[in-house]
Amino acid sequence: MAIATINPVTGETLKTFDPLTETELDDRLRRASQAFQSYRGTTLADRVGWLRSAADVLDADAEHVAALMTTEMGKTLASARAEVSKCAYALRFFASHGPSYLADDAVDAGAVGAEQAYVVYQPVGVVLAVMPWNFPLWQAMRFAAPALMAGNVGVLKHASNVPQTALYMEELFGKAGFPADVFQTLLIGSKQVERVLRDKRVAAATLTGSGPAGQSVAAIAGAEIKKTVLELGGSDPFLVMPSADLDKAAEVATTARCQNNGQSCIAAKRFIVHESVADEFERLFAQKLAALPIGDPMDGNTKVGPLATEQGREDVEALVRDAVEKGARVVVGGRRLDGPGWYYPPTLITDITTEMRIYGEEVFGPVASLYRVPDFDAGMELANDTDFGLGSNIWTEDATERSRFVQEIQAGMAFVNGMTTSYPEMPFGGVKTSGYGRELTVHGMREFLNIKSVWIGADSHS
Ligand code: NAP
Repeated sequence: MAIATINPVTGETLKTFDPLTETELDDRLRRASQAFQSYRGTTLADRVGWLRSAADVLDADAEHVAALMTTEMGKTLASARAEVSKCAYALRFFASHGPSYLADDAVDAGAVGAEQAYVVYQPVGVVLAVMPWNFPLWQAMRFAAPALMAGNVGVLKHASNVPQTALYMEELFGKAGFPADVFQTLLIGSKQVERVLRDKRVAAATLTGSGPAGQSVAAIAGAEIKKTVLELGGSDPFLVMPSADLDKAAEVATTARCQNNGQSCIAAKRFIVHESVADEFERLFAQKLAALPIGDPMDGNTKVGPLATEQGREDVEALVRDAVEKGARVVVGGRRLDGPGWYYPPTLITDITTEMRIYGEEVFGPVASLYRVPDFDAGMELANDTDFGLGSNIWTEDATERSRFVQEIQAGMAFVNGMTTSYPEMPFGGVKTSGYGRELTVHGMREFLNIKSVWIGADSHS
């Protein structure tokens, strides 16, 4: 894929970039490795200061960066602004909590026959982050903030369609006063990832993206015995039980499916509704989906902008076409919008069977699948009948259903009467083919730390 900014509203190529040559890439990795040698020795107080300063820079640059993201991948300007502000919040969060997350842990010295025993948390070195375009700042920031706080050095290979946002990340940390080369953006294609991963100067990698990309990175890192964190796709269930407030559930379902123009790993994708309320929920959901204003993402009234890439729209269309050909019913939407831009309208389809691709695959666009189930057990069985296990949602007032859902759902995140969202305060990640490892909180920070046990015996002369 060419490294270029292509406006999804017009299809116009605004700026292209040459990938780094082998010599340039080698030089970048040399600089990253050198930067780590001194950065690892910086004090926590210094790093806290740089993180806070990065948050201030981001606040000051907010309008510029938000517009850049909207131009590069089509999210609404309002959601781009919210993303920038969430990133500044995360920087301040890790500045506040980093020192306690990184403090030594005491060990009962007597129990291990030592004079002193404790655990120290040390950075591992240069970490490669391979990131997707859908939340171009947030995905990269939720790696960068804890990694830099912990003393690691980051090299970012961002998605090829968001090069200017990627370059802004490097600029941001430079402007914030971090030492040179502590965070670099590598403008490289996905084929160059293997060369970076195999480089001895790179210690570990994190990838957020599709299953095939994750498999490739994990296989190479496995061969090199390098730690990886994978945040992959999802097809999150959204259960609606009879006790739920249907109007509220349908309102949140609409946001949960169409946020970011339907391109979110944690968007609810499979709506599993008790048959006693399914007709009413379908009516309300369809009404709300159809009412969402579609248009220019720079326009403050727009709720749904274009999909980020032409290919992305074709992938969504192919899944809907396959379902319709096999007997699915389109309740609303289901046809691309005519005219320029990669627009696809909010869509609701039902009467889905296991033969349809949409039953098992992730739809990365504003297409909701609605299933009717006779009872809670059937709902749970369907919710878990997927290779994915990222987020999950249930709407119910029944205490037994809530606790069974939390216990039995095969997912990394369970939300009751709400919509799956990421917070620096809660671990983020999945199970099954949605990946492994966690981001955010202390759990995310520790993924890329050497958790070193220290055992100190009595003075050997005594
Ligand atoms: P993608 O094609 O996998 O791209 C993601 C990143 O991986 C890009 O930087 C891409 O580079 C790179 N890449 C692609 N193939 C690669 C390979 N074989 N080896 C190394 N790097 C490779 O994903 P996408 O379609 O852009 O993004 C959507 C997917 O990301 C969805 O499945 C979504 O669910 C998932 N996602 C997951 C999370 C989460 O936290 N779990 C969050 C957001 C998105 P190029 O751009 O140069 O191809």
